[in-house]
Amino acid sequence: IEIEKKSEKKTVKKLIEFTTNIGIAVYPQHGENSENLLKNVVMAWQRSKYHKNNTYQFYSPTMTSKTTRLLRLEALLYQALEKEEFLLEYQPIVNIKTGKISGMEALLRWQHPELERVPPGKLISLAEETDLIFSISEWVIKTACQQNKAWQNAGLPYLPISVNLSTRQFQDPLLLTRVSRVIQETGLKAHFLELEITEKTIMEDIELSRKSVRELLQTGIHLSIDDFGTGYCSLSHLKKFPFHTLKIDQSFVRELRNDPLDTGIISAIIALGRSFNMRVVAEGVERVEQLEILRSLNCEEMQGYFFSQPLNLEDATDFLRLGYFRRS
Ligand code: C2E
Ligand code: MG
Ligand code: MG
Repeated sequence: IEIEKKSEKKTVKKLIEFTTNIGIAVYPQHGENSENLLKNVVMAWQRSKYHKNNTYQFYSPTMTSKTTRLLRLEALLYQALEKEEFLLEYQPIVNIKTGKISGMEALLRWQHPELERVPPGKLISLAEETDLIFSISEWVIKTACQQNKAWQNAGLPYLPISVNLSTRQFQDPLLLTRVSRVIQETGLKAHFLELEITEKTIMEDIELSRKSVRELLQTGIHLSIDDFGTGYCSLSHLKKFPFHTLKIDQSFVRELRNDPLDTGIISAIIALGRSFNMRVVAEGVERVEQLEILRSLNCEEMQGYFFSQPLNLEDATDFLRLGYFRRS
């Protein structure tokens, strides 16, 4: 729907997208009076929103316990945002040709006073069951951009900062608005923000992905395809996505030996990235042998424990101050 808002001087045209979710409860199985039916309809409607926009969901009795669990989870995550229990760690990406740091990846951590450390993959998939995933997403993008801007203001190298997006975060109809808002509020030049989207997420809904990618690129930010090689992205699809960076999945690097079969796969991925004019980053480099094989295959950028673990803010700032990777 296009809405025209006329103020004294200017006419603002806004494109608003609506989504619809429907909950369904059937009489008399799901409630013998209107009160119970309505309660269960609301529950079914809430569940439908946890899955996807524009969908419907029938009520089922198991939802009651699930909903209680989700409500508890939602309260915990809400509290985490309010009480600033989330924080970011930063892992450097190194250009091995120059030895210089060529970027930083922001990785989410949750420091709950009682819970054990929740791995980010688990945290994100839990948060994806609630709408708080979107607030978390905005918090991560904003914190990463603010930090990058603060580093730049402190005279440290101007580098891109990468932020990961899960499938629901990437498919959020308000993602573009959130990203634009953060760029505007933090004052970071858009091309110093790089959003990482996994190959699997892109393949989930090709048409939606193409539309979102096109819109996001218009803001001037950079996009990266994460965990490449595991998501069955066909070459014809890849051609349609003008990403800036391709990140080779850790699994290929982990198994990397001086064996023609291993090196063949990686060198094909590197050549592919190059032919699409992308930066190619190998993830999960832990050992010098892996580094040397990758170097011999002309892979210039790498990330992994060999160079550095993800670092807290203080250590990441020290690493940046040094500006390059020095083997101890
Ligand atoms: P990813 O984006 O592929 O990030 C790289 C992961 O590999 C990080 O794990 C990092 O700590 C780990 N890593 C780095 N170097 C090495 C290495 O040499 N060896 C090994 N074995 N691992 C290494 P982490 O921090 O546990 O994050 C796991 C995944 O969780 C990330 O994978 C990303 O998909 C997701 N994630 C992390 N932060 C966020 C976030 O803010 N938002 C979203 N949506 N997802 C996030
Ligand atoms: Mg990543
Ligand atoms: Mg990855």
